[in-house]
Amino acid sequence: MAGLTRHALLLVTLALLPLLAGCEPQDSLAQIRERGELVVVSRNSPTTYYLDKNGPTGFEYALAALLAEELQVDLRMETAYNLHDIFHKLRRHDANIAAAGLTLTEERAAVFPHSMPYNTLTPQVIYIAGADRPRSLAELPGHGIAALAGSSHVEMLSTLQRSELPALAWEEIDDADTTQLLELLQNDQAELALIDSHEFAVQQALYPQLQVAFDLGREQEMVWYLAPGLDNTRLLAFIDDFFLRLQKDGTLARLREQFFGHGEGISHRSASEFAQSIDQLLPEYLQLIKQVAGEYQMDWHLLAAIAYQESRWDPLATSPTGVRGMMMLTEATAKAMGVDNRLDAEQSLRGGARYLKDIKRRLPQNIAEPDRTWMALAAYNIGLAHLEDARVLTARQGGDPNLWQDLMARLPLLQQSRYFKTTRYGYARGAEAAALVRNVRHYYSVLAWHEIPDIQPQPPLRVDDYLPAVIRGIELQAL
Ligand code: GLU
Repeated sequence: MAGLTRHALLLVTLALLPLLAGCEPQDSLAQIRERGELVVVSRNSPTTYYLDKNGPTGFEYALAALLAEELQVDLRMETAYNLHDIFHKLRRHDANIAAAGLTLTEERAAVFPHSMPYNTLTPQVIYIAGADRPRSLAELPGHGIAALAGSSHVEMLSTLQRSELPALAWEEIDDADTTQLLELLQNDQAELALIDSHEFAVQQALYPQLQVAFDLGREQEMVWYLAPGLDNTRLLAFIDDFFLRLQKDGTLARLREQFFGHGEGISHRSASEFAQSIDQLLPEYLQLIKQVAGEYQMDWHLLAAIAYQESRWDPLATSPTGVRGMMMLTEATAKAMGVDNRLDAEQSLRGGARYLKDIKRRLPQNIAEPDRTWMALAAYNIGLAHLEDARVLTARQGGDPNLWQDLMARLPLLQQSRYFKTTRYGYARGAEAAALVRNVRHYYSVLAWHEIPDIQPQPPLRVDDYLPAVIRGIELQAL
């Protein structure tokens, strides 16, 4: 009987084969163009896709927006509530591409076509400073480990458990944002968390007591995954070509710098002081900062970030070089800006805001935002003349003098005689100016990220939340 059934099945399959061969998979690129819409699924996190006061932003969003522009179609972003959901959406063809800081893994690659790598990352084991710190894989079993469900990290843990560490156990968090993992650590609900290096670098500022225990293996590649079951040949070629071009013309490096660069180089101590000051000092000056920023059409997070960098929000700050007050103005600048009492917080903030606005106005027109702001800030520190020198050096070395990233790398050269001898205005503490901008950008993004959770896109409801009990468990495909 069983043999007969199998035989019948074989016959049916054989009969159907020509039919199956006839229905060729659709060309995904043509489909996107026909619909005039590119649908990209991502996850809401500071390293991928989020909303700030100007609308959607994030590394993945920026890339997706550029791709949509090249394809001359609209971009629709879909937010997934966890990593499984991302792949579920691809499988169901609810999205064309998944762009969510996703690691290239064997299991995923077996099912989903993927792009060439456009970034690298290293998975890391994070722990709370002062607690027991494991230093290698062998020391992981016995610790309470948390990782995102469906993540590449869980795939790694499972492989390790099967191969060399059968005692390894972990908890899977059903969320899309690694912030949840860090929250668990912070609240003593987990001992260790697994997250990617670039994510931790960005988020560490919010969790200053968390640190890297060790890198979990080698550097890995980040890719976009595509919906399976379609003819993706042309879409993949288009995307790879796009990534190659962005790599060549420096766009990728610039976006990486823009979204991940500011986390680097901030020490654990300064991050924790900053977190404390946000709670304890900022509330006292917040109203004033917002008011002055409003007067100068400036983003208050930026004004607050500069004031923190300059004086740690201390209106009475003084330095041995004679600069003073909340915005650390020199006597000459204060005078030029109409400030008669530098130690008055309101006057100082006004003077600083006005000075920055002045500098910005005097920068060459072809420097676009946000580079324009960062350059103005560097000039706030070393003066426009030196900034101009650094721009000349940048151009001389083949860099783009209108890009902050290129300029930043040359600012420290103003301290080396080999270089400053050749410039018009000579020596300047360029490294300090570059560091100042890096710090301000870091403080700025922490302040901005702190403020925005309320406006984040809401993930869709989970099945369990709205389906009656009888049909819970039936997968969504059926619906
Ligand atoms: N890169 C991870 C993955 O591809 C997601 C981020 C994380 O879990 O930290 O699954």
